[in-house]
Amino acid sequence: MGGTPVEADKPAEVPVAPSAQPSTCRLALTEAIAIAPSIPDIHGRGGCGGHDLVRLEAVVLPDNHQVAVRPEAILRCEMATAVANWIRTDVNALASKLGSNISELDNFDSYECRGRNRVAGAQLSEHGRANALDIRSLKLANGRVISLTDRNVPRDLREAVLHSACTRFATVLGPGSDGFHEDHIHLDLMDRRNDYRICQWDVWDPLPQKAPMLPAKRPEQAPPREVAAKPGGESDVDKPAAEEDSAASAAAEKPTAEKRSTKKRR
Ligand SMILES: [Zn+2]
Repeated sequence: MGGTPVEADKPAEVPVAPSAQPSTCRLALTEAIAIAPSIPDIHGRGGCGGHDLVRLEAVVLPDNHQVAVRPEAILRCEMATAVANWIRTDVNALASKLGSNISELDNFDSYECRGRNRVAGAQLSEHGRANALDIRSLKLANGRVISLTDRNVPRDLREAVLHSACTRFATVLGPGSDGFHEDHIHLDLMDRRNDYRICQWDVWDPLPQKAPMLPAKRPEQAPPREVAAKPGGESDVDKPAAEEDSAASAAAEKPTAEKRSTKKRR
């Protein structure tokens, strides 16, 4: 028996002494790379939590511009580093090609103690280990917002993000993966045997532009609506009907013009 018998009775959630040596990751994640102060370990229920956590507030680009992470993300140091490196190199290069800088990363979810896909009782999500980040969009300094799951964002742009993400992260889930990622991209560093990776993100083509479902246009010869209406019916048929018709034909014509330009894009 050691000199501290009290220790054995303590639950596992005892705060860890803050005197622990900073990790290699912590030492490497300097303010030249990211604004990411360390935060205390989290020991949640059901295996949630982690150690060597940081609050990723911003990624610092090589030219010292800062990319704000909004809201700040709670991540393990390794995950924060992977996100920072991805933004600093791949995403920054992509933004440069577009003639701008990346200025903001939209954090849709980082640490959260929950099962996968928020399904109760499911296997613990990597979010519960502070090892995952969900993002929806990247914002450029020129104001442009690149929504990653928007079919109308140029395909090559979304594909470039997909390929770079799948190179850096162990798991990338997006539209078409499982139905839970149609509006965001999930990134994590899940540790799997043999470095097995999952990269599932279908970069959809824009939807074909279809005219909305509208009632067929009334032929000129059709009897006026008040005649067709049931005798004694409400007078909801006269002027509003005429307005409806003209709005309908205007709406039906507009997509036709857009259709042509969409087609050219392939
Ligand atoms: Zn996620």
